[in-house]
Amino acid sequence: MNTFPDCSPARTRTASVNAARLLWVLLWLIAIPADTLRSAEAPWFTRALVGMEVGPTGAQFAGGQHAPDYARNFNGAEVVRRCVAAKAEYLVLWVRDGEFTFHDSKLVPKPAGLGDRDVLREAMDEARKHSLPIIAYCQLQYPAHELRQHPEWKMRQADGKPVDHLVCFNSPYTNAVTALLTEMLGYGIAGFHLDMVDQGFGPPHGCWCDHCQQRFQAEHGRPLPKGVNWGDEDWDRMMQFRYATSDRFEKLLTDHVRRLAPRATVDFNYHGNPPFSWEVGQTPVRHAGNGDFVTGEAGLWAFGALSASFNAEWYRAATPGKPFQVAVQRGVRMYHDQTTRPLNDMRWELFTLLAHGAFVTMIDKTAYDGWLDPVAYDRIGALLGEARNKRKEFGQVPVREVGLYFSARSRDWLGRDKPAAWFQSVQGAHKACVYEHLGFGFLFDENVTLEGLQQFPVVVLPNVGILTEREVDLFRRYIEDGGKLIVTGQSGQFDRMGRPLPASTLEGLIGARMKQRLEGTDNWVRLDASPNGMALGSRLDHHHRIGAAPDQFEHVPFLVRGPATVYEPTTGTAVGELLDSHRAALANPTGYNTDWPLSARTVVGPAALVNSVGKGTVLTFAGSPDAATAGEHHLVETRTLFANAVRFLHPKPRVRITAPANVEAVVTDDPTTRTLRIHFIAYNATPQTTPVKERPYVLPGLIEDAPMFRARIELRDGLKAAKAWNRTTQLKKRGNRVEVTVTDIHEVIHCRY
Ligand SMILES: [Zn+2]
Repeated sequence: MNTFPDCSPARTRTASVNAARLLWVLLWLIAIPADTLRSAEAPWFTRALVGMEVGPTGAQFAGGQHAPDYARNFNGAEVVRRCVAAKAEYLVLWVRDGEFTFHDSKLVPKPAGLGDRDVLREAMDEARKHSLPIIAYCQLQYPAHELRQHPEWKMRQADGKPVDHLVCFNSPYTNAVTALLTEMLGYGIAGFHLDMVDQGFGPPHGCWCDHCQQRFQAEHGRPLPKGVNWGDEDWDRMMQFRYATSDRFEKLLTDHVRRLAPRATVDFNYHGNPPFSWEVGQTPVRHAGNGDFVTGEAGLWAFGALSASFNAEWYRAATPGKPFQVAVQRGVRMYHDQTTRPLNDMRWELFTLLAHGAFVTMIDKTAYDGWLDPVAYDRIGALLGEARNKRKEFGQVPVREVGLYFSARSRDWLGRDKPAAWFQSVQGAHKACVYEHLGFGFLFDENVTLEGLQQFPVVVLPNVGILTEREVDLFRRYIEDGGKLIVTGQSGQFDRMGRPLPASTLEGLIGARMKQRLEGTDNWVRLDASPNGMALGSRLDHHHRIGAAPDQFEHVPFLVRGPATVYEPTTGTAVGELLDSHRAALANPTGYNTDWPLSARTVVGPAALVNSVGKGTVLTFAGSPDAATAGEHHLVETRTLFANAVRFLHPKPRVRITAPANVEAVVTDDPTTRTLRIHFIAYNATPQTTPVKERPYVLPGLIEDAPMFRARIELRDGLKAAKAWNRTTQLKKRGNRVEVTVTDIHEVIHCRY
């Protein structure tokens, strides 16, 4: 029997409300603190900081051939007890994988090893004793069971061949999903985690099935394009059609759940952020907004150590004002291994995410038979317990200097089938901000406004090739009002289909004419002794103790590998020199090994331009210090050059942090208590040996030890008192400056102002 505790109609009252009783209730309401009432009503995710996701591993890799002991010991009550003991505030329980469900379903089979047991029922019964919200994990996109019954629901390639592992979201599969969600809602669950609405992570691309053909014809009055064709307006229509398909499916599921159980939440595992691109069928803002909050993944295993802070701030920007969830795993290599990371390795990731405002789900993939590893749960308990003890340190307003602008249109029409090279600029700008302790956030072309730009003293356009008139107009108004813009690479030089333009749409702001796009990426920069050149060249040498005399940067060029432009100044002031490489003189420039850059050859234009517009300033790099920072030739100089540009444009930040490059700093403000919090999170990975596969691409080592590091905090507007969270931290306050010596992975310094 289905019961929907949250949507049963209110009982009709047969007697009028007794006035005295009403008065009593009102007095009672006044007596209860307001925050208690709110928390009683607030959805589970608005008060959650840390939770767990638990499910058996193996379903993805067995191809339907499971051993009899698969999930035999996967027990809902035991999972709940372990998660409660490990301090989880909610549990995302695997109820549906590609082959099976773990509840009594009339639609999808259970694994044989479960016998008569119903894991979801076991979990719900136990969770009630602990008031633990249960979220049902439901896999969407690899429904192996349904696709065996209904091969006609498979995605199809342009040539008609089925994509065997992917389902079309325009097919009747949508009805199968809603029927399954209805079954699960009958258990009174707190919500769904739906994983995932992707249309594939690369070729083969879909979908050209009959359902899609008919729908496209009806909506566009023309047939589907014949295939992927980046020169074709119809391909643009197909891209919009694919985005609309994912959007419609997500909305359909959200509406279905809300209709049946208004308090049950829905969240989708999101793929609108790099390294994912158009093929997934999601854009950064549109597909983050479906459901109650967005969920994404961090993880060194696929995305690198910088993905924690990158993704958290990305999700924040994609869903302004909403909580956002990030999932991490306990496994040493990735989700599907039954190993457990050292506590400090997990602490670094968790506290990076929490400091950036996320709430975090720790994923445990059980043993093949569903057994729960007690060592893992002890370690996770220590981790989540520490997070809960520090709860008050998280969730304040971030203090930010730099807005990193991301254009989904450029992702699609410049990134095309190889988006990674295009992503390198925005990823490098982020990396530079982290290493140089510059507070950052993201801005998106999908929802950009003047007010959005004005949240940031400095906005960066990291090789944003495609910019509409509306966007350029917004930038102009932002700068005229006092905003500061940094332009890199070949920003503004392509039309909406990614075709080169004869002139940059940013020329008026840059104060220079575009003479030429450099085809090679091995470009070099030499600074000069002008005041602007000295400002951009500061700290390139002594700060990092690389051994060069300060004036050598006036004479010796350094590599800034990435896209570049030869500019001719109009109103802008030229700074330094851009040099091409000896590759330009070769008869066949691309014939010489393109992995390795060639040496500097001759000056082709200025290195940078500074242009005043109204009350603001535009600083344009002819090259790409951002892309270079994320590349394989990641010189310290390129990152420092980027940071110097921020400091040149915004010389007096509210908070200035000096700390080692492997220590991330996150600054938040609590205006009601006049407290700035400065989180320090140390990434202290151990060195690795030669990998067996794909040498020399080593995986990062695990963090075992807490390092000792020094850091300095300087407040522009006065400092009354400072204190550290850790007793072991040494703290000295001198005027507006605090100096700390920290011996931990995570520390948070309170500065009262
Ligand atoms: Zn289709």
